[in-house]
Amino acid sequence: MSSIVDVQNVTFSYGEKLALDDVSLTVDEGDFLGLIGPNGSGKTTLLHIMLGLIGPDRGSVELFGQPVEQFDQGERIGYVSQKATSRGGTMPVTVRECVRMGRFAHVGHSRLSDEDRQIAEDALETVDIADLADQRINQLSGGQRQRAYIARAIASEADLLALDEPTVGVDAESRDAFYRLLDSLNESGITIILIEHDIGVVTDRANRIACINTELYHHGDTESFVESEALSEAYGATGTVVHHHH
Ligand code: ADP
Repeated sequence: MSSIVDVQNVTFSYGEKLALDDVSLTVDEGDFLGLIGPNGSGKTTLLHIMLGLIGPDRGSVELFGQPVEQFDQGERIGYVSQKATSRGGTMPVTVRECVRMGRFAHVGHSRLSDEDRQIAEDALETVDIADLADQRINQLSGGQRQRAYIARAIASEADLLALDEPTVGVDAESRDAFYRLLDSLNESGITIILIEHDIGVVTDRANRIACINTELYHHGDTESFVESEALSEAYGATGTVVHHHH
């Protein structure tokens, strides 16, 4: 089994504020990794470091076997940031145009072929937003917009999908459907890293859990996490455990 992400002894501070302290973890091909921890525990920072968006103060990161500083296969990664649910900052392009952009990395300077266009249409079908293809991205609801970005990642044939609290502001029904979509993408072989505050959503589907609060409290399979004290230890540092059942 090959490693998709390999984080070794990563430490990172924002000025004086220590955000990550000696964190090491790996994500293997096909994993569904749930990244959990209280508010302000460093989850988004760790994800940004894993994807090479920021560099660590100490330690090293490899993505698809390449040192992250040299990583040049961006099309293999689909990233849905926390901001993706908000309307601000999204481009005034249609959903179809957005999803077709997922093909650009594969065609270089030439134009999209009929096959590229078909791959984009198929991706729209996969995430069930073909009916929204002609709408502008910035007119969609938060949940619809998440799906559009995921369709773009599917069209680009991403191997890794990283999502930061993707269902904030999404209604309960759409949320369940959204997580079923993630499950089926993972079953089709896409590696997933999910930041989610609802622990039940994570333990229901992730095969591996990373539980952090500046330091790593657990990294391993979900069963051993559920049986461990890692959750209360990590959350105990800042207060109440958020544990929703559904
Ligand atoms: P989480 O995603 O778990 O809520 P973050 O990674 O966003 O946590 O933040 C970790 C810590 O770093 C928090 O204390 C947060 O206030 C701080 N932090 C995050 N981003 C910045 C920034 N750009 N500048 C300064 N401090 C930051």
